[in-house]
Amino acid sequence: MTRARQASLCCFVMLACALLGACAIQAVRPDGSPEPVPVDAYLRSGARTLWVAPHPDDELFAGALLARASIHYGLPLRMLVLTRGGGGECGLGRGCSPDLAAVRTGEMRRAADLYRAELQQEDLFNAPLPVESFPSPEEILARWRSQTDPVRLIASAIRRFRPDLLLTFDPHWGATGHPEHQLTARLCVEAVRLAADPKTEIEGLPAHRTGRIYFLQNRYWLLALVGRADPGPVTETWDARLPCGEQSCLDFMLRATRYHRSQHRDMARVHAHRSAFETLHLRQVDPFEPSPLDTSPPDPLSQRERGDLATPEAEGDLAAPEAETDSAAPEGEAGD
Ligand SMILES: [Zn+2]
Repeated sequence: MTRARQASLCCFVMLACALLGACAIQAVRPDGSPEPVPVDAYLRSGARTLWVAPHPDDELFAGALLARASIHYGLPLRMLVLTRGGGGECGLGRGCSPDLAAVRTGEMRRAADLYRAELQQEDLFNAPLPVESFPSPEEILARWRSQTDPVRLIASAIRRFRPDLLLTFDPHWGATGHPEHQLTARLCVEAVRLAADPKTEIEGLPAHRTGRIYFLQNRYWLLALVGRADPGPVTETWDARLPCGEQSCLDFMLRATRYHRSQHRDMARVHAHRSAFETLHLRQVDPFEPSPLDTSPPDPLSQRERGDLATPEAEGDLAAPEAETDSAAPEGEAGD
């Protein structure tokens, strides 16, 4: 093969990887240097894992890796869910009694039990559907701050659980374009800093510095093609087909989605797009240092007035199909 032909083949492979998001990526640190301990080895060393998300059922996005931590390695796992999901849609034919938030709280409880996770579920405001009417992240933050200080809430959870690894959405697109996903990721960055600051008093809890933070990247090729995916950079990929007990971690995650019966339409969609969850794309970030890899920084809350969270991504088109809005599927298809 000529050198020119080799070069063109190499370019084609790189382009295909970028578009399809399907190629394994060797782990690098936030500064771009090689990461000698990829995420699976980090878990194997005994890492305590904290998942932080706004909605019941969000855990499915990271579910395979969460199951790897708790089911395969038997490690402590905690899920912090900031809302009860009352803004979503009740997909049960018999209705949701006494209300959707109560039903989804119960579903989350059962899903967390399957993951063998401790669950901390809060009751912050959850923007009601339709997607087109979602408030801006600034408005959601104002609502949340009228209820509590969300940064201190997450920082308190960090100090209590003392995670080695915190996993959340990416603050730019947030996997689905949901402003509450994006906002949660930003709050996590600030909370990690706050929890590590020994000068900050939080409920008498000792300071804790979280070892690693990963933003979950949605790099599904079809969404990436139309600009509805997280921008990266991806610092590592992880194979969700690795074992978690008797089954693959991917199959474990899919099984856990069946507990979210009130959201069965969206869960059916997840099952239908199983291949999109076979590889998890992760971005390791250092909240204490700006990353040279980061061409579009998450703009931590501390660098600006907390009430001003506007970014092009956050203010842009939010009509991407968040899981709560998909078209109809037969009831019970994903439930059992
Ligand atoms: Zn969500």
